[in-house]
Amino acid sequence: MKLPLEGGCLCGRLRYRVTQAPVAAAICHCRMCQKNSGAPIQASAEVPVAGFAIVKGEPAVYRSSSWGERLFCRDCGTPILYRPIEGAKTVSINSPTLDDPGAIPPTHHIFTESRISWFDTADELPRYPGSGPNV
Ligand SMILES: [Zn+2]
Ligand SMILES: [Zn+2]
Repeated sequence: MKLPLEGGCLCGRLRYRVTQAPVAAAICHCRMCQKNSGAPIQASAEVPVAGFAIVKGEPAVYRSSSWGERLFCRDCGTPILYRPIEGAKTVSINSPTLDDPGAIPPTHHIFTESRISWFDTADELPRYPGSGPNV
């Protein structure tokens, strides 16, 4: 993949840049990602903290659990990323918000224990009922 990658929210007020290669990319079926995205899955890429920057706008922050928070556009609501609150080595960007939404293909599924019964994808990627391989 060609770096840097850029992305942003639906309205364009929030923009970000990725300057380091992701260390992992997954499709998550967990309930929090379903609620956060309003979709059956959330596709995300784990980018080193130093390789991610907001370059335009000021995101709103929602603390979605005791260990993590989610950034989104305060104007249009697009969820941009998830990150651990403490000791983050990576941030998890919602890769479909990239200007090139196919730039970081997922390599596996996680939390398939929460997969919605009417939804599936037609791929042969490894599937993990829980959090999957550590990154
Ligand atoms: Zn926006
Ligand atoms: Zn999830």
